[in-house]
Amino acid sequence: LMAYFSLIQRASGFISGLVIVLHDITEQQQIEQERRDFVSNVSHELRTPLTSVKSYVDALQDGAINDPEIASNFLKVAQDETERMIHMINDLLDLSRMDSGTMRLDAEFVNMTELINYILDRFDMIIANDDQPQKRYTIKRDIVATPAWVEIDPSKFTQVIDNIMNNAIKYSPDGGLIRVKMRLVGQELVLSISDQGLGIPKKDLAHIFDRFFRVDKARSRAQGGTGLGLAISREIVRRSGGRIWVQSSEGQGSTFFVAFPFTMFDDEDEWDD
Ligand code: ADP
Repeated sequence: LMAYFSLIQRASGFISGLVIVLHDITEQQQIEQERRDFVSNVSHELRTPLTSVKSYVDALQDGAINDPEIASNFLKVAQDETERMIHMINDLLDLSRMDSGTMRLDAEFVNMTELINYILDRFDMIIANDDQPQKRYTIKRDIVATPAWVEIDPSKFTQVIDNIMNNAIKYSPDGGLIRVKMRLVGQELVLSISDQGLGIPKKDLAHIFDRFFRVDKARSRAQGGTGLGLAISREIVRRSGGRIWVQSSEGQGSTFFVAFPFTMFDDEDEWDD
């Protein structure tokens, strides 16, 4: 808190008043600090893959190019790192559009029972078609059959669920079970996605949706993570009028929740005669 004092003095020298201006600078300072952190984070995050691409390209130029096997390995690293940078920049552009309010949400009434089953079918399809999976996992659904309608942008919502599902897969142990539940609780439709992974340490729970936050930076990077997925998911859910949160205990897995107000339509459509 900053206070400015100034005396109101007449020409005669008589002091007729005192003005005190109290100015809350904490919020402003915090915003500025966050902005500085953000720029510094972006620079660091991009410098690592760029430096790595440069060193592999240098090595190729210095002769590695003559060994086809090594050359192919090095090019693969350069390719992966480049891909991760593009991914990160696209995420940053998404966030920037959300910050400036220029991201369009094409909200419509969506039958969530159908949409969530559709999204999960895609994941089951990936499992079914992967002959040599790096990791095995099972997805179990427990979806309420009652059709519940939510006003959301279906493609943005899909992005949120994809992100939580991909994290659940990424942080699951081999042979892990991922449980997806959908329930109607009071006025809200609540989705939960649970995994049997490493869980999130208690001290990190409050930061998990922050930009660039990762429990284990090295591991997340190695798996192609940017630390922006959950930050984007939170923005999308909030802007769609919903809530997102997590429960987790270290060593015992995590559960991510997404909740939206829902509407139940009668079978009889009101426009029917
Ligand atoms: P990332 O690209 O690193 O996955 P996210 O924003 O999606 O970025 O997630 C941020 C961090 O939250 C991750 O790096 C990871 O440490 C942690 N996290 C997210 N989901 C899970 C999960 N299901 N189990 C354990 N940790 C998780």
